[in-house]
Amino acid sequence: MTANALINLILNCGSSSLKYKVFESGTENCLTSGIIERIGAPDAVITHNALNGNAVDRTSGEVKNHSAAISAVLARLLGKGGFKKRQIKTVGHRVVHGGKYSAPMVVDDEVKNYLKEVTFELAPLHNPFNFEGIVAAEKNLPGVPNVAVFDTAFHQTIPDFAYMYALPYRYYTKYLVRKYGFHGTSHQCVALRAAKMLKKPLSKTKLVTCHLGNGASLAAVRGGKCEDTSMGYTPLEGVMMGTRCGDVDPAAVLHIMMSEELSMHDMDTILNKQSGLLGVSGISNDLRDIIKAAEDGNERAALAFTMYCYRIKKYIGSYITLLNGADAIVFTAGVGENSPAVRAEVLKNLENIGIITDPVLNRAMVSGREGKISAASSPVKVFVIATDEELMISRLADKMT
Ligand code: ADP
Repeated sequence: MTANALINLILNCGSSSLKYKVFESGTENCLTSGIIERIGAPDAVITHNALNGNAVDRTSGEVKNHSAAISAVLARLLGKGGFKKRQIKTVGHRVVHGGKYSAPMVVDDEVKNYLKEVTFELAPLHNPFNFEGIVAAEKNLPGVPNVAVFDTAFHQTIPDFAYMYALPYRYYTKYLVRKYGFHGTSHQCVALRAAKMLKKPLSKTKLVTCHLGNGASLAAVRGGKCEDTSMGYTPLEGVMMGTRCGDVDPAAVLHIMMSEELSMHDMDTILNKQSGLLGVSGISNDLRDIIKAAEDGNERAALAFTMYCYRIKKYIGSYITLLNGADAIVFTAGVGENSPAVRAEVLKNLENIGIITDPVLNRAMVSGREGKISAASSPVKVFVIATDEELMISRLADKMT
């Protein structure tokens, strides 16, 4: 890269953290990355991976808010021997909820007003922090365009019969209650990669993508466009997750609330933070702990593991039906990329629908390795692909500016 090459700064602002990556514009070349944790606390931690190779700079101190966090990032990026301000072509922001937006948006007043007025209500735990990142970037880097890339955007191609809930229609018109879906940038990223691995144009592919991290969702993707996804109005619907319940009979929730006289806030905490693998096992939300405990004979851990895999299998089956067959199943994110045990359990006994796993390839595909884990004879391919949401945001933001 030349000294004056343009760069894209990609920001992912959470409630108390800021993750960032810098890419050379027009390339997939990640130049540096880092994270600031405990924003707002007196002992925030800044971990910055230096430009020149593997050196990691870790410092601790007060970072008052997101604006201060972005100043701290820029101080590291633009310091001696670093980048120059004028090299920053664009700032790409991960924004969880895009409401009506079906594509990334260059941020202007209209976009900001829509985000504040509509999406804060749709995603109160995420969007206000993503928004703070945008405002802080505008303040710190005047004149540099900001592009918002939404987790929900990829799912805006889902047809109405799939995104509507069978509730009175007025709740859709009054409160915009419908399926939105999340992890869209990741599903899109791995779908593009899968098409390359299949050596087919994306427009001719039928894929089931499984993003299995702490949060987890599946998507049915035809020709690069999403037709359905497992998360819904919020990231609570769908498969079982680390601490989220996934699909559950709403009447069961009402019954628990009534029986234990729980407030909406209490129940929300139970469904989002105390359910899933943690809730069933009583041990952990981390699959590694669950697998270890199950191997040690813990029955609830074994049950949690089986439930987790069973529910993913059900979604894969239903999405293959929707797509009338699939070219490939894709596994990605923390669990999808690293757990041969989950992949083996999810994919077992699917020969009759054309999915045959190669156990040796499956066991070998861990720690960032990428490739095919289906047998040569398998009509449906199975891929493990490392997702890179920041790279995808960089590509999309690059195109917009
Ligand atoms: P997030 O959704 O927070 O971005 P990740 O995609 O990084 O999370 O996934 C984190 C999860 O991945 C952890 O909670 C853990 O359960 C799971 N995980 C990571 N490595 C392994 C592994 N080797 N085996 C099983 N699960 C793993």
